[in-house]
Amino acid sequence: MGTRKQSARLRQKTLERLHAALIERQRRLLEGDETHAGALQAEPRYESADDLEMAANLSDREILYRIAAHHGEELAGICEAFRKMEEGSYGLCEECNAPIRAARLRALPHARLCVRCQRESERCADVEDNAAYWRTIGASHGGGSSSHFSKSIRATVRR
Ligand SMILES: [Zn+2]
Repeated sequence: MGTRKQSARLRQKTLERLHAALIERQRRLLEGDETHAGALQAEPRYESADDLEMAANLSDREILYRIAAHHGEELAGICEAFRKMEEGSYGLCEECNAPIRAARLRALPHARLCVRCQRESERCADVEDNAAYWRTIGASHGGGSSSHFSKSIRATVRR
């Protein structure tokens, strides 16, 4: 059968399915954004709204803006995936250049990083999550260890 390099690459059939999934996702995002854009343009009717209603109106709009921004990012990622498919670099991690597993691509066709690099970037990006992660590790290790490190974790947990 194929060489190691070939087996690491995505099969044509898998690639075609992912391409179709990306097109479908792109279509849905664009349709969804039209709905959101319509809701954003509609003037909120304040004349009859009490304060609570007004607040609800504003937060709805804020949520819509956030969704629109998130969809924009995803659409950009999908365009990038199409570009990579054309140039043949699709399915490779942008960080370490390792092939991204097909299972991950099926779940997230526009994934730019392999699972390992994704975790790494999330760990760096979110200090709070990082702290929570280490608290979990510290808690699951119980109170057995007396190293300075686990002491500092227990201190964090107690806080
Ligand atoms: Zn990677």
